[in-house]
Amino acid sequence: MQNNTPAKSWEQRDLSLIWHPCSQMKDYETLPPIVVDHGKGVWLYDIHGKRYMDIVSSWWANLLGHCQPEINAAIKAQLDDLEHVIFANFSHRPAIELAEQLDAITPERIHKFHFNDNGSSAVECALKMSFQFYHQTGKPEKKRFMCLSEGYHGETIGALSVGSMDLFAKLYKPMMMDNIHVTAPDCYRCPYGKTREHCACECFEHAEKAFAAHAQETAAIIVEPLLQGCAGMRIYPPLYLKKLRQLCDTYDVLLIADEIATGFGRTGTMFACDQADISPDIMCLSKGLTGGYLPMSVTCVSDRIYQAFYADYGKGLSFPHSHTYAGNPIGCAAALAVQKIMREQHILEKAADTAKWLTAEMTRVFGQHPNVGEIRHIGLIHAIELVKDPVTKERLDPTKRTGYAIYKHALKRGLVLRPLGDVLYFNPALNITREELRFAIDTAYASLLDVLPV
Ligand SMILES: *Cc1c(COP(=O)(O)O)cnc(C)c1O
Repeated sequence: MQNNTPAKSWEQRDLSLIWHPCSQMKDYETLPPIVVDHGKGVWLYDIHGKRYMDIVSSWWANLLGHCQPEINAAIKAQLDDLEHVIFANFSHRPAIELAEQLDAITPERIHKFHFNDNGSSAVECALKMSFQFYHQTGKPEKKRFMCLSEGYHGETIGALSVGSMDLFAKLYKPMMMDNIHVTAPDCYRCPYGKTREHCACECFEHAEKAFAAHAQETAAIIVEPLLQGCAGMRIYPPLYLKKLRQLCDTYDVLLIADEIATGFGRTGTMFACDQADISPDIMCLSKGLTGGYLPMSVTCVSDRIYQAFYADYGKGLSFPHSHTYAGNPIGCAAALAVQKIMREQHILEKAADTAKWLTAEMTRVFGQHPNVGEIRHIGLIHAIELVKDPVTKERLDPTKRTGYAIYKHALKRGLVLRPLGDVLYFNPALNITREELRFAIDTAYASLLDVLPV
């Protein structure tokens, strides 16, 4: 243990011991960690009294604002009853009620809920279930997985294997499963010269070819429905999902919808799959599930899958998969409070109104900037892809780290605008107000001008 002399700042004490996630620690030499004291709504307050607007919802998880009074109260109430219990053979009211509520809002095929404790573990669970499902229903040759290029499903080895973003995955390829990567839609740079609004998903030919070649050996395909988040908020049309559902049914391949980022109203509907009017066989939920309060996830499955594991003990058909904190009661209490607020405060309807206004304002403020290639949006998520030239859509030089430079200027100005490469985005709490968004738009634009003046 180190001797923490009072002369050392909190920032120095942090850097002497903590390895932060998804960061180059050397960058902290010029941008020390921001030590947060408290949060309220969309605002974070650091220990020096400076405030920052959290326009990225703290990694897309914070659904209804920080320290939301009703969620806080629900957690405090649960805490005095039960903090945690083994979830094998034992259960509790919050988990049961949460499963009932999820059953009511999830797509039609989904009726069973397997609790895990983070997004990646929900994906791992979905992959293992799919593999085992076919193993014990007479098609053991279905061992492989398909996924979309530029996809992201988490950081554990299995989840990384079905991800295609080189940034996260390339180095670890020798450790991974051999999956089939299908070229994803790329609507901004559509190779067929179509637009997202007017196309027949010509790019679906890649999925058709992959299924024709590999469906017999494939257990499941996993996708982020409508929105490839980490890839830079890449949005594709619902028609793609409709076609994929059909293709999966034709070839008997399970469809896994990773709604970890898109779930709970992020894309304007409760789930992204709702916009395509399809039901996956398995759906992964996390992030907004607890309002971004506690690590919890659910792998939601169809009865068909569940029944394939239901048998007398000793037949080897059960699912030997558990996480210590699965179904944690405090997490469930938070999730129940989130659902109550969503219903009673008409969060989806209000967010839809706010989103319309935001689209118009973003377009007005950013539309003319010579480096703004596309302003794309789905639900309240709005992303701005910066390019060298909007006509050619040529990317900015990645070595210049333009997005990161803008991020640093935005922080000085009090906005957490953590970019995805050179894509700036808003993914705020669903109950953010227009006044708050006004600040975010103006501050983001000023920060853009700091780095790319016109
Ligand atoms: C964040 C995310 C995950 C991983 O969740 P963790 O809780 O960070 O493990 C998986 N899939 C998608 C689409 C995500 O956005």
